[in-house]
Amino acid sequence: MLGLMQDWPLLCHKVIDHAAQNHGGREIVSRSIEGPIHRTDYKTVRGRSMQVSKRLEMDGIVIGDRVATMAWNTWRHLESWYGILGVGAVYHTLNPRLFAEQIIWIMNDAEDRFLFVDLTFVPLIETIADKVPSLEKVIILTDEAHMPETTLPNAVPYEAWIGEVDQDFAWKEFDEKTAAGMCYTSGTTGNPKGVLYSHRSNVIHAMACVQPDMLNLSSKDRMMPVVPLFHANGWSTGFSCPMVGCGMVMPGAGMDGESIYDLLRQERVTMSAAVPTVWLMLLQHLEKTGEKLPDLNRVVIGGSACPRSITQSFQDTYGVDVIHAWGMTEMSPLGTICTLKPEYEDLSGDAKLDLQAKQGHPPFTIEMKVTDDDNKEQPWDGKSFGRLKVRGPAISASYYKGRGAEQFDEDNWFDTGDVAHIDPYGYMEITDRAKDVIKSGGEWISTIELENLAVGHQDVAEAAVIGIHHPKWDERPLLVIVKKEGCDPSKEEILGFMAGKIAKWWMPDDVVFVDEIPHTATGKIQKMDLRETFKDYRFPGT
Ligand code: AMP
Repeated sequence: MLGLMQDWPLLCHKVIDHAAQNHGGREIVSRSIEGPIHRTDYKTVRGRSMQVSKRLEMDGIVIGDRVATMAWNTWRHLESWYGILGVGAVYHTLNPRLFAEQIIWIMNDAEDRFLFVDLTFVPLIETIADKVPSLEKVIILTDEAHMPETTLPNAVPYEAWIGEVDQDFAWKEFDEKTAAGMCYTSGTTGNPKGVLYSHRSNVIHAMACVQPDMLNLSSKDRMMPVVPLFHANGWSTGFSCPMVGCGMVMPGAGMDGESIYDLLRQERVTMSAAVPTVWLMLLQHLEKTGEKLPDLNRVVIGGSACPRSITQSFQDTYGVDVIHAWGMTEMSPLGTICTLKPEYEDLSGDAKLDLQAKQGHPPFTIEMKVTDDDNKEQPWDGKSFGRLKVRGPAISASYYKGRGAEQFDEDNWFDTGDVAHIDPYGYMEITDRAKDVIKSGGEWISTIELENLAVGHQDVAEAAVIGIHHPKWDERPLLVIVKKEGCDPSKEEILGFMAGKIAKWWMPDDVVFVDEIPHTATGKIQKMDLRETFKDYRFPGT
C-alpha cells in the first residue's frame, strides 16, 4: 500500500521560490568584479534567474544540456545557477585555478554548450575557446558599459542579454532525479572525474546541512561563503542559505585577508566558510592590525584538516567558534561536522581542542564505516583505523561516464580514499589520505597530525610531511616547513617544540625549509609534487 501524500518533486528552483516568497527582502551583498559593493535580495534574484531561464530557452538550451560557469561568488553567479536549473539544464562549475589543458579536457568531457564567465577570466577563456568545439556562446557576467573587447565566439554582456526578456517564465517541471549540477574532482593522478548532482540530492543535502547540529543556519544569519561556488558544489551554500532565508555576503574576487576582513566587518557577517589557508590569511591580517570581528560568531573550516592553532586563535583571541567540517565533491560535499554533542559539551581547554581536531559526526542521510585491508569493518573505538567508506542519497553512485568504478562496491559504499577512525559517539577523525600515509616499520604514522602540530609553532607558516625511503624502517617522515615572514626558527627548535606531544617514533627524522609548499586548485597541499621534489633526498647517515 502506498502512502497518500503529495508528490512534490525536490527541485532546486523550489528553494529560491521559497526564499523569494518567505524571505524576499533578505539581502545578498556582493563585492562586484567591476569594483563597487552591490546589494540585492532573494526576490530580485529569483526574478532575474527567471530571465536567465527564459533567455537560455530562447537560445535553444534544453533539459540536460551542460552550461558552464567560471565565476567568483557574486549575485550574478547565483542567478546563473538558478536560471540554468530552472530550465532543466546542468550548471557545470569550472575551477579557474586548474591548468588550461585540464579545463579544456573537462569542458570537452562535459560538452558544455554555453559558458557564463566573469571579467577576470575572459583572457583565460580566450586562449582555450577554440579547443572546445561544443562551446556556442559565452555570456560575460557584466553590463554593456564594462564589456571588454574580446575574440570569444558569440560573446554577450549578461545584463543586456537577460534584459531582452521579461520575468514571465514558468520553471520547467521534471523528475527530481534529473541532473542539476556537475563538478569535476581535483584528482591528483589521471584525468579528473565528473560528479553529477541531481535536483533531489542537492535539496536533501541542503536540508541536512542547515540542521542545528550541522551548520545551524537560520534566517538570522548573514553567511559569507568564501569557499567559491566552483569548489565542491560551493559547500551547498547556494542552496542552504536561500533554503532558510539566511542573508548572503559574497566576496567576489577579493580573497586576501584584508578584503575578507573588510566585508566581514562592514556587512556584519555572523558566519563564514572557507579552507584553512584563507583563515590563516585572515588571522595574519587581524594579528597585524589588531582588529576584531564582533559580529562573527562561527566559522566553518574544511577542505583540509584544520590545524589546532587556527581553532585556538579564533576561539581564544577573537571569540569565534570553529566548526571543523569534512566532505568531498562526491558527497555534495558535506560529510561530517564537529559540533559538540551532549557527551562532549562540557569539554574545555586542551581536551576541547583535541576533540575539535576531529572531523566530526555525520547528519542523517550519511552512513559511514571504516574497513581494514581485508574489507573487515572496524569497531567505533576511536583508534581502529582503516579506509573510510560512505553512502547516502547525496553521495555519488558513480562518476560521469562510468569512470572510477573501483571506488564503488555493490552495496553502494563509496571508498573516500581517506584513512580514519571513529569514536564511540560517532566522531570521525581523518589521519591521512590513503596515498599519503607513511608506513614506518609496518606501523602507520599520521602525516596530518604531524603537520597540525608543526604549524602550532609560532614561527611556522605552513608544514607538510612526506614519507622518505629509509633502509631500516622502509619509510620515515620528513617535515617540510615554510617559515613565517620575518622568522627564522631552527630545525632543533621545531623538533624540540614537537617532542613530548607525539609518540617518539612519530618524530620526523629531519626538517627542511622551503619558500613555498605547492597547492592543488582547491588549496590542498600537493604531496605528489613534494615527493617529486624530494625524491633524491636521503636522511643524514642513511
Ligand atoms: P574535495 O573533493 O576537493 O573537497 O576533496 C575532498 C578531500 O579533501 C577529502 O577526501 C579529504 O581528503 C580532504 N578533506 C576535506 N576536508 C577535510 C578535513 N576537514 N580534514 C582533512 N581532510 C579533509
